[in-house]
Order: sequence, then C-alpha cells, then structure tokens
Amino acid sequence: MMAVMRPMILNPMFADARVIPGIGPKVEKLIGKALSAGMRAPRVLDLLFHMPFGLIDRGYRPPLIAAEPGRIATLTVNVLDHKPAPRGRRAPYRVLVTDETAAMEIVFFTPHEDHIRKVLPPGSRRIVSGRLDEFGGRLQMAHPDYIAPVDEPGAVPEFEPVYRTTEALPQRTLAKAVRLAFERLPALPEWQDEAYRARQGWPDFATALREAHAPRTDADLEGTAPARRRLAYDELLANQLALALIRESVRRQPGRVLKSAGALRAKAIAALPFTLTEAQEKAIAEITGDMESPSRMIRLLQGDVGAGKTVVAMAALLNAVEAGSQGAFMAPTEILARQHMASLDAMAKAAGVRVALLTGREKGLARAAILSALEAGEIDILVGTHAIFSEDVHFRDLALAVVDEQHRFGVHQRMQLQGKGEKPADVLVMTATPIPRTLQLTAYGDMDVSRLTGKPPGRRPVETRVLPASRLDEVIGALKRALAKGARAYWVCPLVEESEKSDMAAAEERATMLRQVFGDIVGLVHGRMKGAERDAAMAAFKSGQTRVLVATTVIEVGVDVPEASIMVVEHAERFGLAQLHQLRGRVGRGAARSTCLLVYHPPLGVTARERLKALRATDDGFVIAEEDLRLRGAGELLGTKQSGLPEFHFADLAVHGELLAAARDDARLILERDGGLKSPRGEALRTLLYLFERDEAVRYLRTG
Ligand code: ADP
Ligand code: MG
Repeated sequence: MMAVMRPMILNPMFADARVIPGIGPKVEKLIGKALSAGMRAPRVLDLLFHMPFGLIDRGYRPPLIAAEPGRIATLTVNVLDHKPAPRGRRAPYRVLVTDETAAMEIVFFTPHEDHIRKVLPPGSRRIVSGRLDEFGGRLQMAHPDYIAPVDEPGAVPEFEPVYRTTEALPQRTLAKAVRLAFERLPALPEWQDEAYRARQGWPDFATALREAHAPRTDADLEGTAPARRRLAYDELLANQLALALIRESVRRQPGRVLKSAGALRAKAIAALPFTLTEAQEKAIAEITGDMESPSRMIRLLQGDVGAGKTVVAMAALLNAVEAGSQGAFMAPTEILARQHMASLDAMAKAAGVRVALLTGREKGLARAAILSALEAGEIDILVGTHAIFSEDVHFRDLALAVVDEQHRFGVHQRMQLQGKGEKPADVLVMTATPIPRTLQLTAYGDMDVSRLTGKPPGRRPVETRVLPASRLDEVIGALKRALAKGARAYWVCPLVEESEKSDMAAAEERATMLRQVFGDIVGLVHGRMKGAERDAAMAAFKSGQTRVLVATTVIEVGVDVPEASIMVVEHAERFGLAQLHQLRGRVGRGAARSTCLLVYHPPLGVTARERLKALRATDDGFVIAEEDLRLRGAGELLGTKQSGLPEFHFADLAVHGELLAAARDDARLILERDGGLKSPRGEALRTLLYLFERDEAVRYLRTG
C-alpha cells in the first residue's frame, strides 16, 4: 500500500494549538476539554472547527437615562470619581461615571486599585461595554467586558461569538484563541464545482469559516446560513467521497460466482415451523442474485427488531456452503453469538451442514480444534464475535461474511473481515435498528439495501405505557397479576451514568427487592458477570425456571425469548429512542399480548418527553428512526459515539438532508470522471479528504 501523506498546505492547521500565542500547557488542557478533543492535544484545526452557538451584540448604545438593566450595552461615559471600599470592609470598589443624561456606577468586586485607576482615570472619557444591572435603585455595570479610550472605538467589537466552553476557560480566552487560529489558515484551493457554488451563492471555504465564526444575527448561527451550509456541504462531500472510494475499491476487486441450486436452503427452510414472509423471500432472492453475479456483494439487510433477519442470513450462508465454500456470521456480543448459534443449529442440522462457535471464551485446545477444523474445511459456518478477526483464524475458503452489526462495528472492522478470505468474500451487513436513509448514507455510503418491512404474521403490537416512578407500586401489582397467569417479564435497570459498577449495583438492588415480592423466580443478568454465569441466567429465563429477569442493558440487542410478554424499563428517560425501541422489541415475539412499561423519574425534559411520546405512538422502527434523528437534530446527540455513525462538525442531518443527497451525487460524478483525483479539482478534493480526516479513503484511490 502506498504511503499516504497529508498535503503540506494543511500542516499549519494540523499543528498543535500550542503554536498559537497565549496557549500554554494550562490553557491547552482547558481547550482540549472544551473542544472534547479527547485524549489528543487540541490542534489549530479543532479551534477553527469549533462552531459558536450564540452571539453577543454590543450594538445597544443608549443614553444612560434610557438604559435598560439586564441588557448588554456599550456606553460612552465621563469618569467622575473613584470610591474605594471603606477600610476593612468587604464592599466593592466603585467608579462613578456620567453622560449628558444620567449617572451610573461601575463596580469591581475584586479590586486592583492601580489597574482601575489606570484604565478609568478621573476626568477621562471612556467607552465601556458590559451587562447593565440595577442595584439599590441605581444603574450599575459590574466588571465591564471592555474599557477603552474614546479614540479607540475599534477596541470594542460590535458582535462576539459565544462558544461552548468549560467553566475554567473564559469565553474571551477561547474566542481569542479561535481568532488567532485564523492566522494559521492557509489559502486552500477550491474543491467545489464552481458552477454549483455560484448557484448556491456560497463563499469560498476560508470566508465561510470566518463568517461562521462571526455571527451578527441569530440567523447566522442556523444551519441554514450560507456559510454554515457551505461548510456542511464540504464535510458531507468529504464523507460521501470517502465512502464512494472505499466502495469502489471493493467493487473493483473481482467477486466470485457462488452458484447454488438452493437445495440446502430449501431443506433448512422446510424444517422451520413457519413459512417465510414475502419480504424475507424477496431479500433472499436479492442476496442470492448478488452471490451468483461475478461482482462482489456488499449488501445491507435492514429490518426492525424481530423482523426475521436471522433466517435470511442463514439462507445466504447456506448458499455459500452449497457452492462449496464457507461462511462466517459475526455478532456484536457474546450472548448474541451464542443465541445465533442456537437458532442456526436447527436449520444447520436440517441442511446437514457443520456449524461451530468461536468467541473469546473458546480457549486452549477447544479453540485450537476449531481453528484446525476451519482451515481443513470441516466447519462450514463459523458463528462468533470479533474473535473471528484474530490473526490466527484462517478459513479454507471464506465466501460470505454476515455481520450482524447493530451499529457496533466501524468501517474498519467491516473492511478487515472483507480481507479475510483468499479471494474477497461477499459481505452482508445486518442492522437491527432501522436507520433513516440519510444516516444510512453517511455510515455506509451507497450500499445495496434489502429491507424487511413489517413483522412476521401473528405479532400483536406491544401496548406501551409511560408512568412516573412514584407509581412503581402499581407496576409491581400489575406484574404480580401477570406472573400469576404464567407471564414472563424483563426488568431493565437504569443506565447509571459514569460507572459500570453502579449499573450492576442498581440491578442487584432491584433484584433483591423483587425477590422479596416474588421469591426465587427472579433472575439477574448484568454485563459484569462471567460468561458462563450470564449464560446460565439467560438459560434459566428461557426455560421458565426464572420468570422475571432483572437486567442491565446487556439484553438490549437481539435476545430472543418468545414467552416474555412484559418489559419494564426503569429510568426510561435516560435511554435513547432507538434503544428503547430495541428493548421493547424483546417482547411481542410470541402469541401473548405484550406490554411495555416505561417508568421515568420526573422532571422530564422536552426531548425525553417527545421520545416517550413517539414510542407510544408507533412501533414502526423506520418511523422511530426518523423521529430519533429529528430529536437528536434538536440538539441532543444521543449515542452517536457508540453507534459507529460519523460525527460531524458542521453538518446537521436534520437540517442538511438535501445537501447530503447532493454530496452523494457529486461524489459519484467526481469518481466517474476522475477516479484517481488527478485533475486540478481532484487534487483539491484530496485536500478536502485530509482536511476532514478521511485519510483512510485516500488509500483506495485508483492508481495509474
Ligand atoms: P431479527 O434478527 O430480525 O431481530 P429474528 O431473526 O431473531 O429477528 O426473528 C425473530 C423471531 O421471529 C424468531 O423467533 C424467529 O424464529 C421468528 N420468525 C422469523 N421469521 C418468521 C416468519 N416468517 N414467521 C413467523 N415467525 C418468524
Ligand atoms: Mg436478530
């Protein structure tokens, strides 16, 4: 692989923020915190990309007699007199000032008399700017933000951006750092299509960045402002171009033709206790078509929780086996890998294929035996966790990788699995939480998609109720009645912020409390349990030996116990919409009427309230996904970090959806015309990719 080098022109932006005057180790640390730069030292770029969320308008310049307390004002005044605090008393230092209409006091609570005398000498005329207050019926201004001689009016800016910062880092310090960072902004080539840019009326990149940091009205702060739109488009274009490059390089690799008459698949399906839905049949047909074609399959299988993706995945795996190759089935957690193993087992037996499990728990001789059987081709399908990625795992001939992703694997891992076989394997990615089309584009690019809409027949919608924690007694009462009739219930304990230990403690405490009410039919499962212990707890619930399962969110993804018909979620307000939808999807899988009780602790924030409302209104995962995006767009970025979805500085998908579509088309067109990014615009686009740190994609540029 060729070495990748960032264009030199970008070096000043990628330098540590410490190159900026005034940023020493202490301020650097605070800036890192304010910018959430994580472990790495903040860079010039991070400052430039830190968008303001508000502005201070210093344009209010009333005569003193008309000045309104509570507002930020800029005043021209004559300094009359200094009134230091009387000796030995903790009173503020006051400076009396006037204009032609009235008087006001400027007060200092931490007086440095020398300094105050220097900046506000009696008899002088000064411009002061700051927040007006009223104290004891008199107008005052405490610690003005600016004090300047009247012949230096430029010393007081008319507008100031307001940034997200931490308590220890003053707004002014951060703003100054950003201002100075601009001195390191190089003149960059234009990467946008000039005609398109002109049509949109967008400034060039540097101007857009400057304008975005210099809002003058509230409208300038919105995603709809031209400068913000330009930057959002740049970011989305980098994202789409990177994904298109990766996808193209995958496509360029010769795929393999996996021909099968569908005999194994038919046997396995015939053994199922149900018939496939139309959506399942269609998805299987699409996948089979891809596998038979000579180009490589990269397909996304989207389907709501319980939509029946597993059967589809198994059909695809059996295609690969029938073609004489092997398949891999990757799950995000060990519990899920084991569960997939269990549900695939019956189908595998019916089809006469050999399935094995490989997770972090298979060790020593057992692991060695699996690895050698795999290499010898004595295992047809390997089910497992990311343990499948280990260096020492070799397939005889891997033809299909199914990744049950649940949003937890990044692009990197997907690529890694693709590189496992001797010849590149087909890839089927399954997502359980349907993600909106927009997000799908940013995370996967323009992948082929099969959607499992609707649910298998016989499912009844889950009744969803939202209750305050003060009514926990009623919840327990209702649970008691249901258990008397033989029901099974999940009880999900709050996600405690910060420490995993307290998650566990909360779950343990709740289990103890419920045992006092219901006795030993209460089981417990949490993330800190050892694998075997956890399996035992799950198995006890599955078999009905325990009938209430208290759990932390480890059960969130994919656990399948059709007999469970009640889901209680405590502190529901702390979960994201998609997460709650996932949890609710754990019930309503069997014949019984199911209920989901969302218990919250007041007060409910606006977003939390809307989230719970949305959940009650629909159980269509696609609708919920759109709603989730809308709510997150409203400012609450929930769970993107874990989700594997890219985080954006400028783009807000709730606002810039149409720009995303344009960026996708643009990216496609660019690669059609100039796949190696060799033209002048292509060169500029390379710079764009580095600027937004999509270096990974640059490696996939077509060479020659
Ligand atoms: P997903 O992985 O999409 O969340 P699963 O594949 O785990 O869903 O399927 C959920 C449940 O539905 C399983 O118990 C499965 O056996 C059952 N199921 C799948 N397809 C059908 C069908 N066509 N008819 C009835 N039940 C089905
Ligand atoms: Mg599943």
